[in-house]
Amino acid sequence: MLENKVALVTGASRGIGREIALTLAGYGAAVIVNYNGSKERADEVVEMITAAGGRAVAVQADVASADGVSGLFEEALQSFGRVDILVNNAGITKDNLILKMSEEEYDAVMDTNLKGAFLCMKQAAKLMLKQKGGRIINISSISGIIGNAGQANYCAAKAGMIGMTKALARELGSRGITVNAVAPGFIETEMTDKLPEQIKTGMLAQIPLKRAGAVKDIAEAVAFLASERASYITGQTLQVNGGMDM
Ligand code: NAP
Repeated sequence: MLENKVALVTGASRGIGREIALTLAGYGAAVIVNYNGSKERADEVVEMITAAGGRAVAVQADVASADGVSGLFEEALQSFGRVDILVNNAGITKDNLILKMSEEEYDAVMDTNLKGAFLCMKQAAKLMLKQKGGRIINISSISGIIGNAGQANYCAAKAGMIGMTKALARELGSRGITVNAVAPGFIETEMTDKLPEQIKTGMLAQIPLKRAGAVKDIAEAVAFLASERASYITGQTLQVNGGMDM
């Protein structure tokens, strides 16, 4: 499905990003596995892909840094010569109620989750415009759609990603580039592991499908949007949340 395509996945050392990298590679794409701090885990993802006969390379870069992102794309080009699919997945949380939320907590989440996506899309757009085609998929969140107490910074960043997705879908559409978002609900990863039990139970109660999502649920939605099968879909936010918001 993605043979001869090159995919760059940010934050692919762990969690949802890792599964997206493995899934896109499984469909035939060569993958740039970006990580920030978890080198060993990123190397493990690359080993799994190459062991299965695929092509992948791990590249360290902090997506919040313009220099870091420009280096990331340079290494991507050196490794595989093009980027057809960009998945902006890297993300962090620094939760606090508004009265307690520090400026640092606000800035850190905006810089990684929103500015990081902006910086990567800027680099990808340059390449994809020349290539006259491409797929950009932004991993937003249900929190950016319905809000979540204690996450003013995260909700703003994730809602911002949806706005930026629509802006770029309009800017880049005439050149065969689609830009979409995937908004996961409650997915089992290290990010949600650290939530208090009471919050997890509360979230599960709101899910009509009565289970937390698995990383594979998100990865398959991303693979669809990255494929030719989704060539007439742009500017959309695909909610993958077990029916949590409808
Ligand atoms: P996770 O398990 O905490 O993994 C986060 C990933 O992001 C790691 O690979 C991490 O890399 C990377 N990362 C963090 N800061 C980075 C930076 N500055 N530069 C580059 N990479 C960075 O999180 P997850 O649950 O898989 O979440 C993945 C995405 O889905 C996030 O955008 C998150 O907001 C979104 N999401 C998750 C859920 C959920 O329920 N889990 C729900 C909605 C949306 P290192 O370890 O190498 O630093």
